Amino acid sequence: MRLLVVLFLILTAALLLASFAAAEPRLPNELGRVMILEYHKVDYPEERWTRTPENFRRDLETLHARGYRLLALNDLLDGRIALPAGTTPVVLTFDDSSPGQFRYLEQAGGLEIDPKSAVGILETFTRERPDFGRAATFFVLPGAASPNRLFNQPAHEGRKLRHLVSRGYEIGNHTLWHANLGKYDEPVVRAQLAEAQVWIQRHVPDYRIRALALPHGVYPKSVEWALRGSAKGTAYHHDAVLMVAGGAAPSPFARAWDPVRLPRIQAIERELAGWLAYFEKHPDERFVSDGDPGTVAIPASRRERLRSGLPGGLKVVER
Ligand SMILES: [Zn+2]
Repeated sequence: MRLLVVLFLILTAALLLASFAAAEPRLPNELGRVMILEYHKVDYPEERWTRTPENFRRDLETLHARGYRLLALNDLLDGRIALPAGTTPVVLTFDDSSPGQFRYLEQAGGLEIDPKSAVGILETFTRERPDFGRAATFFVLPGAASPNRLFNQPAHEGRKLRHLVSRGYEIGNHTLWHANLGKYDEPVVRAQLAEAQVWIQRHVPDYRIRALALPHGVYPKSVEWALRGSAKGTAYHHDAVLMVAGGAAPSPFARAWDPVRLPRIQAIERELAGWLAYFEKHPDERFVSDGDPGTVAIPASRRERLRSGLPGGLKVVER
């Protein structure tokens, strides 16, 4: 009998060891690339610029299961990656403030966030899996025509922007009404950027907008116009400019990092699946956190990829 117990214990220990070995921990590589995902409509039916609520939820499940965790865009810009060791940051962005991104339902007891809108899906998922984090940036259109003006419920515009900010989501500039910035001269470009900010800040007065997503991915004739300036008495200053395509972004610690030209991945079935498969096949290219926001852990063999002038106080650790 005693022998059986001993055998059972040995077997259990062996199985446990085997399962640990199978879940191979990812080695930190903070010079790896980061996906900035770009969503447009969350609605029916699924098509080029639309993800269904069910597919969006499935994207979150897939990302979570594969070790991705949400990171705020502003934290990426600051190189502040406070995620558990072995996980990979992913940034969510939503363009054009279409209704399915954030909808309120009028219920007997008051307003309720539509559980099938992107914000509703995100909040439910975060409640179920708190370790996934909560972060997303909404590049809104405050002066567009219906249905793209601030999620298309005029009575609730302000409430929505305040809700986003209070929950730690970010709001980005996408121009006043989706102007193609390559088509216009300096005064119009600057007015589009400054006015978008003014219209957003009517609802969230102290909120600082740090990023611009280019409508159609088109740069103005001078990139300086997009970065900083003023128009109609309002000053704007963008730390980052996001494109509409280009693949996974470089690490904020890499020499290739360029916040003025940040590439994104369109979160449609084929693109997202393709990039997830790419990182499975090329694990060395994937950003993997070391769990310590104060250090940048890099493979010694890739030291030449490190950029100079890291954000203040960060210490480089080679492995
Ligand atoms: Zn857009």
